[in-house]
Amino acid sequence: MPDPEVRKEGNVTVFENFRDVCQELSREADHVMKFLQDEVGTSARIDESGRVRLTGDFGAKRISDAIEAYTEQYVLCSECDLPDTNIEREQGAERLQCTACGARSPT
Ligand SMILES: [Zn+2]
Repeated sequence: MPDPEVRKEGNVTVFENFRDVCQELSREADHVMKFLQDEVGTSARIDESGRVRLTGDFGAKRISDAIEAYTEQYVLCSECDLPDTNIEREQGAERLQCTACGARSPT
């Protein structure tokens, strides 16, 4: 997992390598961004270069903790701890389907 690269720009924190992190996690940028904005407690948007712009001043540690929380909740299988999972949506609910051990668990 690449460490988040963040840069302060006025009152905005720019998460420079957001796209790489999403690729590494194999997750949709929008899904990760929504979690990030809830976790950090601010508004955020993805810009035309695929970076996330968060309103406020946040350090790399804060962002990396949020990505870690996302990984725990939406990437790692709760049974075998491997990241070989997909998110399935069923009747509005999200489940984590593990391709390594076959476990399905609510997120
Ligand atoms: Zn598993």
